[in-house]
Amino acid sequence: MDGKQIIEEDKRCVAGTYARFPVVFRDGKGCRLYDCDGREYLDCGSGIGVNIFGVNDGKWKEAVTEQLGMLQHTSNLFYTRPQADLARLLCERTGADKVFFGNSGAEANECAIKAARKYGEEHGGRYGIITLKDSFHGRTIATLAATGQEEFHRHFGPFPEGFTYAEPTIEGVEACITDDTCAVMIEVIQGESGVNVLPEKFVKGVEKLCRERGLLLICDEVQSGNGRTGYLYSYMAYGVHPDIVTTAKGLGGGLPIGACMLFGDCAQVFGYGDHGSTFGGNPVSCAGACSILERIDDGLLGQVREKGRYFAEGLRGIGGITDVSGMGLMIGFKTGRPAAEIAKKCIDRGLLVLTAHARVRLLPPLIITKDEIDRALEILREVIEE
Ligand SMILES: *Cc1c(COP(=O)(O)O)cnc(C)c1O
Repeated sequence: MDGKQIIEEDKRCVAGTYARFPVVFRDGKGCRLYDCDGREYLDCGSGIGVNIFGVNDGKWKEAVTEQLGMLQHTSNLFYTRPQADLARLLCERTGADKVFFGNSGAEANECAIKAARKYGEEHGGRYGIITLKDSFHGRTIATLAATGQEEFHRHFGPFPEGFTYAEPTIEGVEACITDDTCAVMIEVIQGESGVNVLPEKFVKGVEKLCRERGLLLICDEVQSGNGRTGYLYSYMAYGVHPDIVTTAKGLGGGLPIGACMLFGDCAQVFGYGDHGSTFGGNPVSCAGACSILERIDDGLLGQVREKGRYFAEGLRGIGGITDVSGMGLMIGFKTGRPAAEIAKKCIDRGLLVLTAHARVRLLPPLIITKDEIDRALEILREVIEE
């Protein structure tokens, strides 16, 4: 089958939820992808923030294939070494006390919502969760309810009760607190709404408010986690201490995994039967994730911060680009034109970029080189200044 036939078959048989670009990828290495005609693309999207060590990463493949040759699945009726190892690594690196594994970001957030609600029930019968306007927490019904964007809610109501959307100010969050509130959930850097970095003062203020009012602080690090921002998790940039942290995307190196980390008192909230997932913490995904997490060390994080500054500086030097935002290698910017049009033109010239609302979004693999950043800037300059 050639590319055209694959696209026709996909359009005929796959549910029409994705507005795909007309490109069929076949293989790749690092930050380079090749389509089925052999055309090369430079990757500044990482499959939406997933492939943090690029594609075909040797160490990850080794870890995954070794586990694949031993055991692929057991269910959570039994113990496996990769799941225990990954949980220990996450606890060591974050100070979390317990981890629950699912298979995606939305599932990690579902777990966080359940943990917060059970904790709230045990502490005064509370269940309300405050999230922010313009947030994004996933596509399941509960995580959509948590998502503070009207457009995602159309067609799918009624939603579970107990979610309120605050303006991203301390007064805004405070105004949403009632006797029923048990938690505040934030993305320190809102990805889907356009790489919107919440100010340090605000995040610290939310933490303080949570402490004063007995609320849990939940950080959704699904997109901003796992080294993306030059910190292992972006909340670490501000030195705050959440009670629950969720992550997914970059953790699995390309295989599905989501993790919900529980800190302090919160870690004791779940008992037998409270939550579960057939595939969650699958040994192959976990073996791969261990090989990823082990390599997100201080050296790599320093490089991510440095390369992020370099990339952002380069973008600021391009006429027509405004409003560059981000942290590390999670970057967004505006141009005078629709972001989708810029993305399409970049792809025509062999550069993969993402969009988020009206903004272009860049989430390159963390291993991107300065030469590759220069090449990406060159293509962006051509497209935007044309
Ligand atoms: C992508 C994303 C999710 C949802 O993750 P899925 O793996 O697609 O379910 C949740 N929260 C944030 C911040 C995300 O960026």
